[in-house]
Amino acid sequence: MRTEGLDAHRTIRAGHGWQPIDRDAAVSALGAEGEALDALRALARDLRDTGKGRTVTYSRKAFFPVTNLCRDRCAYCTFRRDEGEDGAWTMRPDEIRAWAERAHDLDCIEALMCLGDQPEAAFPGYRAFLASRGHASTIGYVGEACRIALAAGLLPHSNPGVMSPDDLALLRPLNVSLGMMLESTSAVLRRKGHAHYYAPDKDPDLRLQVLRDAGEQRIPFTTGILIGIGESPADRVDSLLAIADLHQRYGHVQEVIVQNFRAKPEIPMATCEEPDTVDLARTVAVARLILGPEVNVQVPPNLSPEGLAYLLDSGINDLGGISPLTPDYVNPEAPWPHLAALARDCARAGYRLAERLPIYPEYVDRPGFLDDGLRERVIAAQAAIDARSTEGAAA
Ligand code: SF4
Repeated sequence: MRTEGLDAHRTIRAGHGWQPIDRDAAVSALGAEGEALDALRALARDLRDTGKGRTVTYSRKAFFPVTNLCRDRCAYCTFRRDEGEDGAWTMRPDEIRAWAERAHDLDCIEALMCLGDQPEAAFPGYRAFLASRGHASTIGYVGEACRIALAAGLLPHSNPGVMSPDDLALLRPLNVSLGMMLESTSAVLRRKGHAHYYAPDKDPDLRLQVLRDAGEQRIPFTTGILIGIGESPADRVDSLLAIADLHQRYGHVQEVIVQNFRAKPEIPMATCEEPDTVDLARTVAVARLILGPEVNVQVPPNLSPEGLAYLLDSGINDLGGISPLTPDYVNPEAPWPHLAALARDCARAGYRLAERLPIYPEYVDRPGFLDDGLRERVIAAQAAIDARSTEGAAA
């Protein structure tokens, strides 16, 4: 592994500030082993410490699979269904309301709206359903779902796939933040035989444009990369550099998820190799060294349960949404860990687990980011978290 690019980061320890790791050093670091790997992780951990300390956050959420119909067919997906297929499901407004009220009773704050991409383009029965609710597109229905969640006392964070500038503008006043995984900037993945061949919405240029448009509209935005889907080390680095570049320009990327591919028997990629914890940790460390001390870097704990301490010491500071109510519909075989057990595991590793809102605190008061119509709700939700944490500390 080349170390010249990493040497610059040793200045972190000397208190001389931070410079992003250069591209070649980052690509090389993705192959680090032994002492070089230890050094890489230590640098990322120290950089995280300068910006975030030893607190690791999570959001208490309920997952709303608004519809699992999707026009795309990513080769690793178990979530999507065709219209009429077993398990096809579009949540009706009454269901959304009942789930939202139950989630609020269980002290959830975040309503994560998660769904397939542009199903109205593929399924006539679904189009008729949208029309019966007065919507021309899925985004309109997501807006309705958000209104229901808000009325139940939750704060929506929607992740509806590719969004146009009008879609973003429609959802902005109804969501404290929005999300869409970049996944990868690799154009190769769109070629025949690759993970995104049947997924027009995974076109990297389209997704980078969404990130750009979200930045123009000053929307606190969650994005990230998916690793182990056929991308090269250089693709991973280029994807992270693209996110860093847009964040530098607009300051809107509130968190970057590093998500690992999981092989499942029913998918076309069933026999593909999964990234192991070390590969995930290297990528997390490189993400931290590219993105800097302040950006929130997340790994979902249910997708890498055995490696929590290792990943914490590789530079992450967030564990994403954790639900006391609903399973992870995208990875239903991977249950979320119980919060108390997670807090214990974090403490054993030397970290404090703390609840956060689905909008990160640094965006609440940053001018122009949080919609004024949502401000009071956000302040009330933060007060509820503070009260819970005080009660927890006193117990
Ligand atoms: S990963 Fe998302 S876009 Fe791809 S098929 Fe599944 S639901 Fe559709």
